[in-house]
Amino acid sequence: MEIFKEIKPLKAFLKEKTPAATIGLVPTMGALHHGHLSLIEASKRENALTVSTIFVNPAQFNNPEDLKKYPRTLERDCEMLRQAGCQVVFAPEVTTLYEHEPTVTFDFGTLDKILEGKFRPGHFSGVALVVSKLFHIVNPTTAYFGQKDFQQFKIIEKLVEELKFDLQLKMMPIIREPDGLALSSRNKRLSEPERKKAALLFRSLTEAKKLLIRGEKIFNVKEIVNQNYKSVDGVKLEYFELANIENLSPAETVTNQTILLMAAYVGEVRLIDNLLMEE
Ligand code: AMP
Repeated sequence: MEIFKEIKPLKAFLKEKTPAATIGLVPTMGALHHGHLSLIEASKRENALTVSTIFVNPAQFNNPEDLKKYPRTLERDCEMLRQAGCQVVFAPEVTTLYEHEPTVTFDFGTLDKILEGKFRPGHFSGVALVVSKLFHIVNPTTAYFGQKDFQQFKIIEKLVEELKFDLQLKMMPIIREPDGLALSSRNKRLSEPERKKAALLFRSLTEAKKLLIRGEKIFNVKEIVNQNYKSVDGVKLEYFELANIENLSPAETVTNQTILLMAAYVGEVRLIDNLLMEE
């Protein structure tokens, strides 16, 4: 496995391999888990060369404390990627991707102002900026992202469409712990009791889905989810919304095009999850 910290040698290496080889790109912020590895596996199945990037992108953190506390485990990550059969890692320093404070920002209209965007202003602009840089540097055939960050996937779809990036996007399913908790690098920050409480996200999503299938009104389901959170100490629901999977506009009725999205604090750690009505 080749590890690059600089852009030029990475590009030279990739240029030598292409156009014969298809390139799969898996962007990550490191602190890898099996969710990330499922993206690597998908890329390996479908491409001659898999490139994974490890970069904690300051531009997408609206909370400086969250950025500071984000787990960084580069050596362990590289070992996991090596074992997963990833061929190339790009793990640049911040100054390599941002020579100075970025001045370019993105505006996706409503899409980046709702849900995550409402609580994390500027987050998706930062995501779009770093993903654009990575697409330009790696020039992948296909880029792989997780459904775990569903709104992020919709933003990247828009980015690719509007900037005419010549690549395919693939969204892969959420990998979960046995109790349903979606794997996340942030789970590492949970204490043992918090870790147990964190199962509440998936539990309330699945309960909400069952109630909706039974025909319960959206308003009542939201109330039940709110009550679930109020009954547990040390957790705080930030939002629970139903949206249309096409443009994430609020769902007024429930169909198989509806997605349930949630963000909550467990202690100090902010977690997100979602569930498709169709799954
Ligand atoms: P991150 O390192 O959190 O930026 O995530 C890198 C990629 O892995 C993103 O496309 C995420 O959506 C995806 N990902 C994160 N958690 C999971 C999971 N539990 N299952 C599948 N994909 C995931």
